[in-house]
Amino acid sequence: DFKRLGFIGLGAMGKPMLVHLANKLPPESRIHVFDVVEDVMDELCRQFPNRVLKATSSKDVAQQADTIITMVPEGAHVRSVYLDPRNGICSTDISHKLLIDCSTIDTATSLAVKDHIVQNFPTASFYDSPVSGGVVGAIKGTIAFFLGCAESDPNLKRLTHLVSLMGKQIIPCGGPSLGLAAKLSNNYLSGIIAIACSEAMDMGMRSGLDPRVLAKVYAAGTAQNTICDRFNPVPHVYAEAPSSGGYKEGFKVQLMRKDFSLAVDMAKRVGSKNVLGEVGLDTYDGASKDPRCRDLDSRVVYRYLGGQED
Ligand code: NAD
Repeated sequence: DFKRLGFIGLGAMGKPMLVHLANKLPPESRIHVFDVVEDVMDELCRQFPNRVLKATSSKDVAQQADTIITMVPEGAHVRSVYLDPRNGICSTDISHKLLIDCSTIDTATSLAVKDHIVQNFPTASFYDSPVSGGVVGAIKGTIAFFLGCAESDPNLKRLTHLVSLMGKQIIPCGGPSLGLAAKLSNNYLSGIIAIACSEAMDMGMRSGLDPRVLAKVYAAGTAQNTICDRFNPVPHVYAEAPSSGGYKEGFKVQLMRKDFSLAVDMAKRVGSKNVLGEVGLDTYDGASKDPRCRDLDSRVVYRYLGGQED
């Protein structure tokens, strides 16, 4: 049923997500794409002739497509893509259209976009649906979608079908902006665990323990978790962890800094006490600016905190 699809934001995540759609949708489907970077559009149009079509703006995408996915970096970009009075999605009639924003942004911006759409186009549907699983997951088609809607939402079946082409799991989180709240809460937790794991490994290693033994102990003990296991911040504990490849592939420390800061803001706004927020923010902020860590996987906090490598 997705014959006229739109996709805006063809970066590290958006491009592989779009490639899955282009490969898996029925032959009659057309995907209208837009990104402020021309080259990436041209490349995809060459790769999928007569299937991926280049648009001239977000508004143009909205005029051509019935279902639109957006995947841009931050709240300001989402605002501009949807609300720009000249070129935004909402500057044309989007009645009856289905809009899915997969960007990780603050809940307030997402709710503001939703409110604007509800007020101006009551028959259109807008959902927040951030994803988890990273660039590798986007390429493999294994990302998870955290959807800002109730289990009873009338569009859930259509949304599930669409996102199943790009990922493995879809979790309806309850209502508007709750997909984002879930994602930010998840990244807060995973960011804190990476710091705690780095410190715990370091104190054990400095006491004479082999890091692989330590990881086995956590796995068998009460500290068992994915970060200490598949994403262990210490190189060569887990062969496929980003740390073992020089922290090159993974979730960039600047993105963790952004998500962590959004989570801390959210905690403040809802009156949730988070004593670890300040420590986490300082650490990821420092690591993002440190030339030894910048652009690397966020588990590079181990290096930032003075952990021993080699
Ligand atoms: P990216 O910077 O690689 O890609 C973003 C794309 O959006 C770029 O191609 C950029 O040109 C385009 N863009 C920016 N403003 C635009 C506009 N006004 N109109 C059209 N296109 C515009 O970022 P990414 O890594 O793909 O991340 C996108 C979102 O997904 C972010 O919110 C990020 O936090 C989230 N995310 C990223 C990862 C990851 O591992 N990279 C994982 C999960 C979630």
